[in-house]
Amino acid sequence: MRNGFGHNARMSLKLNSKLPHVGTTIFTVMSALAAAHGAINLSQGFPDYDGPSALKERVKHYLDTGFNQYPPMAGVLSLREAIATKVLRCYGAKVSPETEVTVTPGATEAIYCAVTAVCRPGDEVILFDPAYDSYEPAVTLAGGRPIRLALTPPAYRIDWQRVADTITSRTRMIMVNSPHNPTGTMLDAEDLRELERLAERHNLVVCSDEVYEHLVFDGVRHESVLRYPALAARSFAVSSFGKTYHVTGWKTGYCVAPPALTQELRRVHQFVTFVGITPIQLGLADFMQAHPEHLDELPQFYQRKRDLFNAALKHSRFVLKPSQGTFFQLAEYSAISDLPDRAFVEWLTKERGVAAIPMSVFYEHPPASRYVRFCFCKEDSTLEKAALRLAAL
Ligand code: PMP
Ligand code: GLN
Repeated sequence: MRNGFGHNARMSLKLNSKLPHVGTTIFTVMSALAAAHGAINLSQGFPDYDGPSALKERVKHYLDTGFNQYPPMAGVLSLREAIATKVLRCYGAKVSPETEVTVTPGATEAIYCAVTAVCRPGDEVILFDPAYDSYEPAVTLAGGRPIRLALTPPAYRIDWQRVADTITSRTRMIMVNSPHNPTGTMLDAEDLRELERLAERHNLVVCSDEVYEHLVFDGVRHESVLRYPALAARSFAVSSFGKTYHVTGWKTGYCVAPPALTQELRRVHQFVTFVGITPIQLGLADFMQAHPEHLDELPQFYQRKRDLFNAALKHSRFVLKPSQGTFFQLAEYSAISDLPDRAFVEWLTKERGVAAIPMSVFYEHPPASRYVRFCFCKEDSTLEKAALRLAAL
């Protein structure tokens, strides 16, 4: 009786949601659907291969030799040093491991902390649609106003004049993502100069999501905000070891930002998660030091997978958008189906055994076009098997 009464009381509680329009993320939804139907999962972005064995060996070493307590709040120093070395080697930027580098449990937490640290109630944050799904909730929870500007297909470039026209006295932050999930486009040097010019003129902070920084193709160089000193001076540059070392489940990332921004980021980070996981951070530090070439090999590794997947779909009825970076491939399917993209990916998963992500979920106002996103960070055999099914549509 008492239990029954307690249960009813629990069931009757109503809360006024702070995120009333947010459901479970599409990545969780589609991976669950793929698993339920035994479909090949090209939806959520994670590899079906493992990280380097030498990296796992180092993590095991630390697990087994007593490195299992809290690391320092900003991350283990050897990893912050390895990040600073990498940033210097890749982008020519000298950053301090002590005051400018923070290790976080994934890029998602770094982005959340950056937004929370900067954005006050009523502040506007400019985002570009299609936008990664964690940005808007972070802004909303901070009491900010997400201002979402749609990138124009097929190039999905930023219209900087439109950005300039959108900036108001309440604009506090601009969020950029290059290489871009889900379109696979990249910002170029001219974009970075425009961003720098606007950010300086309007005293804005930039949150630059660079989690795919090493997944770039056709010899194009990644334009990190860290290459541009005046821009870096007002930017949070966020990255993720999950993408770079094929270990998304380790949820380890980092943020590089000038001391004043880092101090504010850490003020939030220490009360959101406080720290990440010690043996993983120590293992990553050792591996980065011992194998700097891993970063140089990634573009070729993923370009080959992109090309294999594209070639296998060449005679399909999908129209593929060229992917310049990330491990994602956009595909237009209007020659195959009239279904809206969400219904199409459900059908594709359940009836044809391949899961994908519908493009519309990344928009405030989804366009009429019919695009899905396939993830190609998969074994060649997985990609070939999936492509056979897709080419038969
Ligand atoms: N930003 C983008 C654009 C992403 O695709 C992802 C996917 N993982 C993240 C951030 C989050 O990275 P992490 O798993 O390290 O939190
Ligand atoms: N970033 C990954 C993607 O775009 C998913 C990460 C997640 O599931 N939160 O597929």
